Amino acid sequence: MAPDEKLLNSTESVCPECLKRIPAQNVRRGNDVYLIKECPDHGQFSTVIWRGEPAYESWAYPKKASSPAACATESNKGCPFDCGLCSDHHQQSCGVLLEVTSRCNLACPVCFAGITEGAAGEDPDLSVIESWYRMLLASGGPVNIQLSGGEPTVRDDLPDIVALGHKLGFNFIQINTNGLRLGKESEYVAKLKKAGLNCVFLQFDGTNDKIYKHIRGTALLELKEAAIRHCAENEIGVVLVSTLVPGINTGNIGELINYAVQKIPGVRAVHFQPIGYFGRYPKAPRDEGRITIPEVIRALESQTGGKVKTANFLPPAGENAHCSFHGNFVLMPDGTLKSWVSDLSGYYCAKAEPSSEGSVHARNFMAKQWSAPKEPLKSIKRLKEAPKVKPAINVSSMSDFLERVHTYTLSISGMAFQDAWNLDLDRLRDCHISIVSPDHRIIPFCAYNLTSCAGRALYRGKGPDHG
Ligand code: SF4
Ligand code: SF4
Repeated sequence: MAPDEKLLNSTESVCPECLKRIPAQNVRRGNDVYLIKECPDHGQFSTVIWRGEPAYESWAYPKKASSPAACATESNKGCPFDCGLCSDHHQQSCGVLLEVTSRCNLACPVCFAGITEGAAGEDPDLSVIESWYRMLLASGGPVNIQLSGGEPTVRDDLPDIVALGHKLGFNFIQINTNGLRLGKESEYVAKLKKAGLNCVFLQFDGTNDKIYKHIRGTALLELKEAAIRHCAENEIGVVLVSTLVPGINTGNIGELINYAVQKIPGVRAVHFQPIGYFGRYPKAPRDEGRITIPEVIRALESQTGGKVKTANFLPPAGENAHCSFHGNFVLMPDGTLKSWVSDLSGYYCAKAEPSSEGSVHARNFMAKQWSAPKEPLKSIKRLKEAPKVKPAINVSSMSDFLERVHTYTLSISGMAFQDAWNLDLDRLRDCHISIVSPDHRIIPFCAYNLTSCAGRALYRGKGPDHG
């Protein structure tokens, strides 16, 4: 350890070259924290994981280890090679992705799933999807479902998939989409609503087309705005999801919040995802190509002129603290955002602490926050004429409070996905977002998407690899 370095904790990771499990350390250098590891065959790797305040050490919450309600695999080869979930996992699933197609109608330079435009592939039919749903029910109950891909809206029978999930007992179903079809076909959106779709997780990287041309290869803003409009007309809640790429849209964070505020109550939330490096990267991604959680939080304050503040954001109550942040706000009649997370954080974290109860609580909380309000959106007055909404601070229960502020709420959150360079297996074991693999296993998102620098996947497209 160099004289200016301080060891924060020891963990494990994988070698980005060969994906073998290797020891790793989280080390403080000045204001920043790095994950440092050494493969006996491929040398040393150092990756920035946290820059500045709020400090890495302070970003924590009192969480008890939990276990999956049902384990499909044994812990044999050791994490991350036993996913199933295995008996070594420390958290229950809150949200689970079902990849209902490998096809897509875009060819984004940035794609977690490594999908290419027009990529042929047989879609799982409804009976296969039903078997996934039933497996999830048997593995712990009605988790929040994310129908994903590829691009799920390329399927004409997507409304049938949504309806099937509800029929089987799932309460919250969202689609993860680029929004192209939703922007073009309002009747398709109406069919999804009729089927019971609760939320659209809309890829929305920024508020101008320069950003879309860089990240998605083409101008898309008009279609995205049409998608938001069609969702509002059909009473479907929208979460704007921005993949943050340093130098491309990291200066647009404040504008995106201002944009979302104008779209309340149809837009329920903004979710930021710092870019991760999946696929083929022969050279280690440079640290300048990464933005970390505290930087996003600070940018939220500085770029909104203090409309939201660093102190309004908290570590998560479900997954590992260093995976994400969140804050909840109420739009006030004068256009300001009133934070209520800080007022009630004690309540929220306390409720989330007992593990199984906490997992259910986090699941219900997210479902309620991201769905459209009960009151029809068409009848809700817009920002200029928003009725008075009292910030409920002295409330007896979280449910009462949410009832009162549900309509004019905006949640702001972010999740820093892990790749082969910054993977911390302690974080991965706490993961509560998973994907169902074609062979019916539940695999944490960051394990499923993990690839070596040569593009070799650990799970996606094949069975488990060896440690
Ligand atoms: S990520 Fe979880 S399920 Fe997968 S091997 Fe590690 S502990 Fe087991
Ligand atoms: S998906 Fe990745 S970043 Fe998100 S909770 Fe799971 S391990 Fe953490």
